[in-house]
Amino acid sequence: RMMFDQLTEKMAGIGEMLQGKKKITAASVERALGEVKRALLDADVNLKVTNGLIESVRNQAVGKLLIEGVTPDQQFVKIMYDELVKVMGSQQAPLARSTKEGEPVVILLAGLQGAGKTTAAAKLAKFCQERGAGVAPAEEPQPEMKEGEVWTPPQREGPPGKVLLVAGDVYRPAAIEQLQRLGERIGAEVFAPGRDVDPVDIARGGVQYARDGGFDAVIVDTAGRQVIDEKLMDELVKVKGACEPDEVLLVVDAMTGQEAATLTAAFNERVGITGAILTKLDGDSRGGSALSVQGVSGRPIKFVGVGERIDDLEPFYPDRMASRILG
Ligand code: GDP
Repeated sequence: RMMFDQLTEKMAGIGEMLQGKKKITAASVERALGEVKRALLDADVNLKVTNGLIESVRNQAVGKLLIEGVTPDQQFVKIMYDELVKVMGSQQAPLARSTKEGEPVVILLAGLQGAGKTTAAAKLAKFCQERGAGVAPAEEPQPEMKEGEVWTPPQREGPPGKVLLVAGDVYRPAAIEQLQRLGERIGAEVFAPGRDVDPVDIARGGVQYARDGGFDAVIVDTAGRQVIDEKLMDELVKVKGACEPDEVLLVVDAMTGQEAATLTAAFNERVGITGAILTKLDGDSRGGSALSVQGVSGRPIKFVGVGERIDDLEPFYPDRMASRILG
């Protein structure tokens, strides 16, 4: 992947800056921190998140590097790694389980138009079919990983999870047909009463249908707009009230850079989200949103979209992302 190339390159440069130094001065630490800060901002990391990260690294680096003074370059990179992992939420955040015994887990998707919501709905449906809805990947034993290897939770035993897709995007003309096509492809039923029905009723009806039909999971697609507008937010709050989701995932486009973080904070404040799906991480975004979402909203990235195909969805692992960033 290309997205962190610049940042990775800069980090390597910083390692070299500190390498082989017998004595580290406060000034050289400051110089290194200045370089890191510039690299993070260049990668579109949110300013507040960047400042917080630099401050944490400084606090530790000053003590460790100046006092111990052994392999300062490696120590600096280790401190950076730990802080990067922390700023992304530390742990892989699994999908929520249903809070109501014997009922399907309810997942509501929100986001701007074009963010990749409808695509994400189908990808997530397939994930739930294969892995079991609400099965927490982090709770399953994870094998030793070789460097660069990606772990995904194993396929579940038995028949695929029964997942219902709910077509709640009544504003984008082709959204319902798109969801129906995707549902057909993965063998998931689509609840689509049509564009003339109130999205609040669609959400409520869809969840009821899933309960009655013994589904494992129900994924509700919603309408997006070009920009945040009050009417959209009001409607989303009502949809949320109608379907009482276990999970409200904001679908954000990594390509929007700084905007992705701003948007996440805004949606969280107004609607209340439980996590995010960061899409288009395969594109040439600079990746800053991956580092910013948790920091600005307190909500984790749970999945990343890495392509247009239905299988291009991966659980988000902060430690692996940090390793990738540091190269
Ligand atoms: P919606 O308006 O939010 O429902 O957006 P769509 O699901 O229709 O997606 C908008 C466009 O983004 C489509 O062309 C998708 O194929 C594309 N897309 C969605 N997710 C990804 C992703 O992870 N990577 C790439 N490269 N394209 C994506």
